[in-house]
Amino acid sequence: MAVNLLDFDLEGLAAYCERLGEKRWRAVQLFRWIHHKGAREFAQMTDLAKSLRSKLEGSAEIRPPALASEHASADGTVKWLFDVGGGNAIETVFIPEDDRGTLCISSQAGCAVACRFCSTGHQGFSRNLTSGEIIGQLWFAEHRLRERLQPVAGAAPQRAVDNVVMMGMGEPLQNYAALVPALRTMLDDHAYGLSRRRVTVSTSGMAPMIDRLAVDCPVALAVSLHAPDNALRDRLVPLNRKHDLDALLAACRRYLEAAPRDFVTFEYCMLDGVNDGDEQARALVRLVSGRVPCKFNLIPFNPFPGSGLVRSPRERIAAFARILQDAGIVTTIRKTRGEDIDAACGQLAGEVQDRTHARARLARRRVIEIATAGGAA
Ligand code: SAH
Ligand code: SF4
Repeated sequence: MAVNLLDFDLEGLAAYCERLGEKRWRAVQLFRWIHHKGAREFAQMTDLAKSLRSKLEGSAEIRPPALASEHASADGTVKWLFDVGGGNAIETVFIPEDDRGTLCISSQAGCAVACRFCSTGHQGFSRNLTSGEIIGQLWFAEHRLRERLQPVAGAAPQRAVDNVVMMGMGEPLQNYAALVPALRTMLDDHAYGLSRRRVTVSTSGMAPMIDRLAVDCPVALAVSLHAPDNALRDRLVPLNRKHDLDALLAACRRYLEAAPRDFVTFEYCMLDGVNDGDEQARALVRLVSGRVPCKFNLIPFNPFPGSGLVRSPRERIAAFARILQDAGIVTTIRKTRGEDIDAACGQLAGEVQDRTHARARLARRRVIEIATAGGAA
């Protein structure tokens, strides 16, 4: 099969060009065509040496994941479903806000961590995405949205995606080798040029990999905490049995020495009667105080069929937030977006569960066009 150039960060592309007998600097040109301009065909790359273009024609391609469907929510959120083969599908969500657009990217088809409250976790693990499939979600979304933001020919390109969060399907730090080149491409000025603070890796707590990320590509870090003690966290996030709260918080603390921000964001999914009591909020304060500079982001639980769990009432979430705030911890409550298209946190299920029928279902899904040009902005 032809080499997928989306699999490479700039360094990888330079090495590939060298293998083709081309100068490394040619890779910069090629990289810019792919990621800046969104080119898919080598014939479009008019200022690229003919010799290189013809070598590429025979051996390489720009292969993003195949679009299966596109859904636009009433609130402007857009969800794309990509068919990644073998009956597997992944989801990518664009969340427009007043002054910026955030893209939520998947790192795996399914997830092996199996968190109690997560729809992806309930599907089981299917496979790791390649770097090309990870960055291909940004490649696709950026250029698709840009077309809509920029209907006037000749107008200067305007960026559509300002932030990337690795909060879609999968545990990014369990797909580390593919994740890092994709992150580097997000940051590269010859590609998307996002600042490190605008790219966030969210992890359920792969403590040793947090240390590696600090060395290889320190971006903003979000950690899914969900419980103030090991007994409860063992039940909600089974990975805790391997890397407990002590190990996790120590890794968070170390990470801050390299991180682009001076705090870690702790995500906390609010589950009625499970982890949302006043005493649990106080225990959280005791757990993190003086240990890890942090902010909390409380996520109202998004239900999915068969979860057996209930979202905490709004007043409970507010009371829980107040306890953290009164202890001096900046705490926000996540606004749920895209619920009408099942695009909210933890609802991304793809189609990995039922492999026999997934292919047929994917084929049946209609590609729904975004209603209005620029409507997602
Ligand atoms: N695997 C990574 C990133 C993907 S999940 C992680 O777990 O951090 C992104 C966020 O959504 C995590 O904080 C996760 O705990 C949360 N989440 C998962 N299922 C949810 C649900 N049903 N309702 C609300 N948040 C959920
Ligand atoms: Fe995997 Fe994150 Fe879902 Fe847990 S919450 S199962 S780590 S995707």
